Amino acid sequence: MNRLIILLLIVSTFARAQTKPVKIFISVDMEGIGGIGTSAMTSTGGKDYETGRKLMTAEVNAVVAAIFEAGSAEIVVNDSHGDMQNLLHTQLDSRVEYIQSNIKPLGMVQGLDATFDGIIFIGFHAMAGTENGFLAHTGSGVVKGLWLNGNEVGEGGLNTYFAGSVGVPVLMASGDKTFTEEIKKLITVRTVVTKEAIGTSAAKLLHPDVVTKALQTQVKIALKDIGKVKPLSVQGPVEFKIKVDNPTRADVAMSIPGMKRIDGYTVSYQAKNMEEAYKLIRVIYKYLSW
Ligand SMILES: [Zn+2]
Repeated sequence: MNRLIILLLIVSTFARAQTKPVKIFISVDMEGIGGIGTSAMTSTGGKDYETGRKLMTAEVNAVVAAIFEAGSAEIVVNDSHGDMQNLLHTQLDSRVEYIQSNIKPLGMVQGLDATFDGIIFIGFHAMAGTENGFLAHTGSGVVKGLWLNGNEVGEGGLNTYFAGSVGVPVLMASGDKTFTEEIKKLITVRTVVTKEAIGTSAAKLLHPDVVTKALQTQVKIALKDIGKVKPLSVQGPVEFKIKVDNPTRADVAMSIPGMKRIDGYTVSYQAKNMEEAYKLIRVIYKYLSW
């Protein structure tokens, strides 16, 4: 009898360990979503913006469905584009929690912490100034260049650094071809190409159904990488340098104690960690953007 109880205990403990939900953070931008080939589709009130919202929601739902197909999961979806009110909440998979609105200090990674097993980037774009990067920018049109510890990064890189600083690896990243090439220079990561940019304002699109299928295939493989794929190593202080489009913005940024002036357009700051760096970078590109 006792042996049977012990055996049952072992079996139930093993079963619990097997079904521990995987915890995934999804940061979803819009420019890199499949089926979006104009800036109007990513702008509130623009032609076919409503279609853009549907496509964005469908990509998130496709990825979420694939994650749940693989096992139990806890998923947080962070809306990361513009006013960060793009996903159609009532049409989102009801098993996820959803972070909305852009008044959040950590923007595209708000809510990400060390408890997550991985982060997924959906619908991303290349960094400011990239040739053949569809709607390429970094944070906002204010930024001409951003460097972390001397490495130039776009939004994908910035978010990868933050994730790395809390010990979370990037499991998968999707967006236009140029974005996927950019992120692969920083980390080894599974990617899904959704379109090929033609200059910065047009794109040759894959059909959205092809993109959602590819996302599902890749995310299932990516989930198997959990525990094997390493976060970007980011420890200790982080120096950021940011080049803006107008020297007046750099003048105003100098009001932040500790900010250093590099040249007319460029300031730099030695942050104690990535969280401090991220918040200040966001202040500069979002709130110094008159
Ligand atoms: Zn965006």
